[in-house]
Amino acid sequence: MKPILDETHDSKVQSWVESANVADSDFSIQNLPFGMFRRRNAGSEAKVGVAIGDHILDLAGMRSAGMLADESVRLAANACASNSLNSLMALGTGPRRALRRRLHSILRQDAPASDRQSASRHFVAQADVDLMLPAVVGDYTDFYASIFHATNVGKLFRPDNPLLPNYKYIPIGYHGRASSLVSTGTPVRRPSGQTRDGDSDPNKAPKLGPTTALDYEMELGFFVGAGNLLGETIPIGEAEEHIFGICLVNDWSARDIQAWEYQPLGPFLGKSFSTSLSPWVVTMEALAPFRTAAFVRAEGDPAPLPYLLSQSDRKLGGLDLWLEVSLLSVRMREAGIDPVVLGRSNFRDMYWTMAQMLTHHASNGCNLRAGDLLASGTVSGAEKTARGCLLELTSRGKDPVTLPTGEQRKFLKDGDEVILRGFCEREGFRRIGLGSCHGTVLPACTT
Ligand code: MN
Repeated sequence: MKPILDETHDSKVQSWVESANVADSDFSIQNLPFGMFRRRNAGSEAKVGVAIGDHILDLAGMRSAGMLADESVRLAANACASNSLNSLMALGTGPRRALRRRLHSILRQDAPASDRQSASRHFVAQADVDLMLPAVVGDYTDFYASIFHATNVGKLFRPDNPLLPNYKYIPIGYHGRASSLVSTGTPVRRPSGQTRDGDSDPNKAPKLGPTTALDYEMELGFFVGAGNLLGETIPIGEAEEHIFGICLVNDWSARDIQAWEYQPLGPFLGKSFSTSLSPWVVTMEALAPFRTAAFVRAEGDPAPLPYLLSQSDRKLGGLDLWLEVSLLSVRMREAGIDPVVLGRSNFRDMYWTMAQMLTHHASNGCNLRAGDLLASGTVSGAEKTARGCLLELTSRGKDPVTLPTGEQRKFLKDGDEVILRGFCEREGFRRIGLGSCHGTVLPACTT
């Protein structure tokens, strides 16, 4: 694993797509994330696109026009003539890197006039499309890789024993539900389920009803690129070659349902009702300038077992990426108040790296497939301002947060909109961003 820097990361390069040159644009020419879009008119198909400024470059259109015909990019371009990113993901890093370089050369300010002219026929404004799930996700796994989150949550449920003994050895995860992954903007229906008041008589029966402890979880997701065969493993030194790129994930959670159901087999219906994804997948190539050392374990912590340990992962397996969650209530929206930031944390504080999560996942011979989604778990840091869910922020409702309208929140109310953002910034490089992932809570079904 060695992040490669090339001309596509040169901060001096600007694009002839003016909106990409704005200083705080998520989609500068140094980013070039892939996604799926559909024009908002009847009968239009899902297409592979690349975000640039406030526009999208239609890659199938570019291919049809013969602009991606060079030997080096033909394979990737053919994979883009598809209604999901899975084919491109399956090709692995080489073809994807070649396509990135070609797109960069077409979109840069000093691109040949002929390229510029031909490409300009294959743009669509992001405002004119629906953005869809980037891939057909066969399997979705959610990890628990923030030791700050695991410790804070552990304290609420097991004050004497917050962190279980396996935590520092195993990247803990559970198998999530792929069918209820939804794209940004999709409303989230408040789920009903079995709950039981935790402090009541242990023999008391639970009841079925709408959750009263609906929460968000601010997470980073990463898509599997080239997979592994059943029975084969992925050595830690090769793990990053199997990762396509990253997106934002909101793992909506019903804490009361979760608390009653989670032992002994882990989260189930308290999580599987909806998980929201951001639409743009920022590739590992775009992230190269922002790679950093993996989290430094506290003195006295065990070293990871050898299959999860590599010097290059320790040195550059981390990612300096900021994540931010904000909330907009109905009353705030009506009063014209901006969303209020509830948490801001950095992915470099995760106890486990993406490579470790992926390698662990395949360590029993489980086959990972192109388009599978792995999510990090709630990204929290050491500070109270760096908590990635309400469960932690409000100490399970004991310490509500106050919104700018004076409203209080222990957990989410109907009509609340939750917005995730993520971005990387580093001196000497252009900022790149993940865009946003948002969703609004709908009332429970009344039937
Ligand atoms: Mn989660």
